Amino acid sequence: MKEITLLGATGSIGTSSLQVLRLHQDEFHLHAAAACSSVDKMLAIAREFKPHRLAMFDKDSAKKLRQQCLDENLDCEVLEGEEGVIEIAGDGEAAQVIDAIVGAAGLKPVLAAVKTGCEIGLANKEALVMSGRLFFDEVKKYNAKVLPIDSEHSAIFQCLPGGLQRTLGFCDLEKYGVKNILLTGSGGPFRTTPLDELENVTAAQALAHPVWSMGPKITIDSSTMMNKGLEFIEASYLFNAPGETIKILIHPQSFIHSMVAFKDGAIMAQLGQPDMRTPIARALGYPERLESGVNLLDFVQAGQFSFVAPDFNRYPCLKLAIAASKMGQGATTTINAANEVAVEAFLKAQIGYMDISRVCAEVLEKTKHDNIYNLEEIFQADSVARECARKVIGNF
Ligand code: NAD
Ligand code: MG
Repeated sequence: MKEITLLGATGSIGTSSLQVLRLHQDEFHLHAAAACSSVDKMLAIAREFKPHRLAMFDKDSAKKLRQQCLDENLDCEVLEGEEGVIEIAGDGEAAQVIDAIVGAAGLKPVLAAVKTGCEIGLANKEALVMSGRLFFDEVKKYNAKVLPIDSEHSAIFQCLPGGLQRTLGFCDLEKYGVKNILLTGSGGPFRTTPLDELENVTAAQALAHPVWSMGPKITIDSSTMMNKGLEFIEASYLFNAPGETIKILIHPQSFIHSMVAFKDGAIMAQLGQPDMRTPIARALGYPERLESGVNLLDFVQAGQFSFVAPDFNRYPCLKLAIAASKMGQGATTTINAANEVAVEAFLKAQIGYMDISRVCAEVLEKTKHDNIYNLEEIFQADSVARECARKVIGNF
């Protein structure tokens, strides 16, 4: 039995992960799960998967859940607060810890898991955007193994030769003849919207993604292509890829999940339905292939595949994230924090749609980006950027 710990168990990736686990109850057991505040969903997980430990970031929610577990005689310890989430992530009982927490909140827990030398199923891209160098130094130090779950990075991982799959964070791409990483994206719901109408986009419009069904923050990020920008940074750390080797390509149908081009002219692509259960199953079962519940892609039904280059006037967030990637970890932490604050403000209708990129640009401009490395410096840069973003928003 392989023990699994699932952080962010009640979200979109968490729910898809549970669907895959449900298909393999003889091979996997859910050791522990963490979430922010969804008591009912966590109770349902406790009933069905019988985990040993649960943690809720929100302390009142943890207290409610603890009482309900007691009332139902569920033999499950319930921890609370950030410390509780970090404790279950790092207790060393799981063979694989999946980090599907959204945003910066996923960083400390995943670093605690890395220290146990386990497999890390990594969906939480913000953790890498903030700490890529430190993260992989820790992975090396504690002999942990990273398995990407973000669909593009899982695709790239699957297209890479085995030697590179085993050296994530330190890949020698040149040695294996890798010339380019082709990171694909759907272009989101506003790919063809006239540019002058983008200012008036509402949260409800931006939350309706044409292809993927995901949590609210990443859905907005997909529409601005900040998501692709964060993925650019994520790829640069995961595959130790210099910025100029990563090319971004819009592929609206999202059947190709990314590609790797080699110096002899060969291009490897990973294809399939746009369904996160495939990359989750790839991570959970690695190196074996698991049933994921996803149907095979029907090429005749799929029809045309098309590709266009991204237009930076339409997607200023993408341009900013690529620029931040060149500036280093201080800038990537800054843009990530500014974006989290801006997206939250947009979802509350406090700022307009195109203001998201304006906030990110202004925060990048107004803060200085030292070449930061350790956790203290990262969280310092994160909070300075959040503070600055709130001020910028206040002045709109
Ligand atoms: P979501 O909003 O649906 O779920 C987030 C989960 O994190 C929830 O379970 C929530 O309770 C938990 N959470 C939030 N704050 C927490 C905290 N402080 N402590 C503990 N748990 C906390 O988000 P999602 O769409 O599932 O995305 C999760 C992560 O995976 C993000 O980083 C996203 O970029 C990445 N990702 C998602 C998809 C997708 O298809 N949804 C694809 C690729 C990558
Ligand atoms: Mg992705």
